[in-house]
Amino acid sequence: MVLPGRPRTAPVDETFHDWASRRYGEGTARAAANALGVVTYDAGTGRLSAAFVWELFRRVYAPTVPTVRWVAGGWQGVVDRMEARARDLGVRIRTGARLTGLPGGGPVIVATELSSARRLLGDESLRWESGHCVMRDLAVRSDRRDRLVAVDLDAGGFHESYSMQDASIAPRGESLFQLDMPVRAGESTGAARERLDAFTDLTVPGWRERTTWQRTATAKGRTGALDLPGATWRDRPAIDRGDGVFLAGDMVAAPGMRGEIAIFSGIRAAEGAVRAVRAARAARSGAA
Ligand SMILES: Cc1cc2nc3c(=O)[nH]c(=O)nc-3n(C[C@H](O)[C@H](O)[C@H](O)COP(=O)(O)OP(=O)(O)OC[C@H]3O[C@@H](n4cnc5c(N)ncnc54)[C@H](O)[C@@H]3O)c2cc1C
Repeated sequence: MVLPGRPRTAPVDETFHDWASRRYGEGTARAAANALGVVTYDAGTGRLSAAFVWELFRRVYAPTVPTVRWVAGGWQGVVDRMEARARDLGVRIRTGARLTGLPGGGPVIVATELSSARRLLGDESLRWESGHCVMRDLAVRSDRRDRLVAVDLDAGGFHESYSMQDASIAPRGESLFQLDMPVRAGESTGAARERLDAFTDLTVPGWRERTTWQRTATAKGRTGALDLPGATWRDRPAIDRGDGVFLAGDMVAAPGMRGEIAIFSGIRAAEGAVRAVRAARAARSGAA
C-alpha cells in the first residue's frame, strides 16, 4: 500500500473498507484500517471515507511523506514557550476558569471542543464524527524488553515510548509510554480497558511489577474530526460563524492531521478576528 506508484488519492464517497478491499484484499484493508487507530482513535476506521483514511495512511506510513516530529522536552515545552511569548506581548492569560457565555465587545475565538462550543454559541449544529478510546500513560523502571513503537493490526491499539526519543522527559532509569485502545461499538469502557491491559502485557512485559506511575483516561467524541463517506474537511463546522465569532480546534473546517487541524484553524480564526477588528476601526473612523 505504501509502495511508490500507489494512488495519491481515494474516493470521498466510498468507505475505506470497500475501496481498499477491492484493491488490496479484505485482510489487508482491515489491517490498514486498524494500523490507523493511532490517528483515528476509532475501532471502525474502515467505515470512514476512503479519501480521508487514505490520506492519513499515506501521512503515517508512506516513507516519503513527512509526518512525525519529536519536540525536545515534549509538547508542554512548546506550550510553555508560546505562553511566555504571549505574556511578553502583553496578552492576559487566565486559566482554570470556565466560560459559560461569550464575552461581548469585539471578535471572539472559541477554541474548545465542539460540545463546549455548542453550549457557548447555543448552536446545536456544531457536531462532527469523532473517535472513542481508552488511554494509558505509563512510567516503568526501564527494561531491555521495552519497545519503541507497536501497532495493533487486530484491534487498532497503539503503543509508543516517549522517553526512548527524548530521555529528558522521564527520571533516569525509567521509561515513559503512551498507549491507547479504541472502544468498539456497544463495548463498555471496562471491557476496552481489559483489552488495553492485555495489549500492555505484550508491549511492556512485566509492567504491573515495574510501574512507578500511571494514569488512565477515556476520550469520547473529542479525539479529532473523522470524515464519513461523502464528507471532507470542508463540510465540518465552519471557522467563521459570523458576527465576529470564530471557531478553532481539531473538529472544524481546516485541513491536516490531528493537532495540525487545531493549529491551521487557529491561524485562520486569528486572521479573521484581526480583519474584524480592522474593519470595525475603519468603520468607526469613517463614521467620525
Ligand atoms: C493521547 C493523545 C495523543 C495525541 N498525540 C498527538 C500527536 O502526537 N500529534 C498530534 O498532532 N496530535 C495529537 N493528539 C491530538 C491533539 O492533542 C489534539 O488534536 C489537540 O490538542 C486539539 O487541540 P484543541 O485546541 O482543538 O482542543 P483541546 O486541546 O481539547 O483544548 C480545548 C480546551 O478548551 C477548554 N475548554 C472547554 N470548554 C471550556 C469553557 N467553557 N471555558 C473555558 N475553557 C474551556 C478545555 O479545558 C481545553 O483545555 C493527541 C491526543 C491525545 C488524546
